[in-house]
This record gives sequence, C-alpha cells and structure tokens, in this order.
Amino acid sequence: MSTSVRKDWDTYFMDIAYMASTRSQCSRRRVGTVLVQGKKLLGTAYNGAPSGVPDCSEAGCMIVEEYEVKLVDGKEEMVKKQRCVRTIHAEQNLLLFTDRSDRVGSTVYVTDQPCWTCANMLANSGIVEIVYHRPYPKDSDKVTEMMKQKGILFRRLESYEIPAGIVEDITH
Ligand SMILES: [Zn+2]
Ligand SMILES: [Zn+2]
Repeated sequence: MSTSVRKDWDTYFMDIAYMASTRSQCSRRRVGTVLVQGKKLLGTAYNGAPSGVPDCSEAGCMIVEEYEVKLVDGKEEMVKKQRCVRTIHAEQNLLLFTDRSDRVGSTVYVTDQPCWTCANMLANSGIVEIVYHRPYPKDSDKVTEMMKQKGILFRRLESYEIPAGIVEDITH
C-alpha cells in the first residue's frame, strides 16, 4: 500500500507554474508563472514570442551578449553572458493577460526568481507576494531590496522539488 502525502499549497501552485513553463518554446530558458488569490488560480503564463510571431523553436533564439560584473574570490570580474531576448518574460505575459482587480492582494508563483525588469513591473501590479524556486543571482540583491522597500513578501521555496519529467525537457 502506498501512502501519499497531500501536497501543500505552495507545492501545488509551483507545480502548476512548472507545468506552464513546459509550454515555452525557448530552449535556453523556460519560465512558468501563476496568479493566485487566496487559493484560487486566476491566471497562468510562460515566456514566449508574441502570438502569431515565429518563436524560438521556429526562428531560433535571438541571442544578445552582455557583460556582467561577477564577484570571483572577492574580486570583481567581467563575465560574458548570452541571453535570448526573443521572448516576452513569463511574468510580463501574466500581467498582460490578467486584470488588475484580480492582482490586487494576490500572490505570484514563478519558477524562476524574477529579473529586475519583471520585478519592477510586478512591484507595481497590485500583488503582495512573490514565491519563486530557482534563484537568479544576477539581479537578486537589487530585487530583494526593492521588494523590501515595497513591502512585498518575497520568498524562495528552497526545499521544493521540480516534478519528474520537467527538468529533462530543458535540453535541446
Ligand atoms: Zn529563445
Ligand atoms: Zn523577467
């Protein structure tokens, strides 16, 4: 006989965010997000090109190279990074496809810690809590600080485990 532990709400909604992320056609990064009010699911989104426009699977990723400052052994170093800019970020799509009245007082679950631009937009969207799983160190300090200033609960599900079969999808 198998005993199954009932999933807590954080796990439940993060699982749905990961399910949404599998719709993404960008092979470099798949991000999913959901809007939750109380325990009610009010929207899902993932990163992708605008509808009707070729996406990463059809047109390839649109790569830009950027230099980032990274601390290596206490010393600042310039590291070259590649990023795909073809897609609208999942969090931005969530804002495009939900109503403000649904966002006020609500929680956003997102598979990845939001970048600075998404964090800025979420901070002004009416939501009061952001729950994420995978860290995004590049913008983490300034995003965390801004959430504190804004009074938005910002927390990471550290012990969360990605549903089986989803990680394997992120290889092309
Ligand atoms: Zn892409
Ligand atoms: Zn973003």
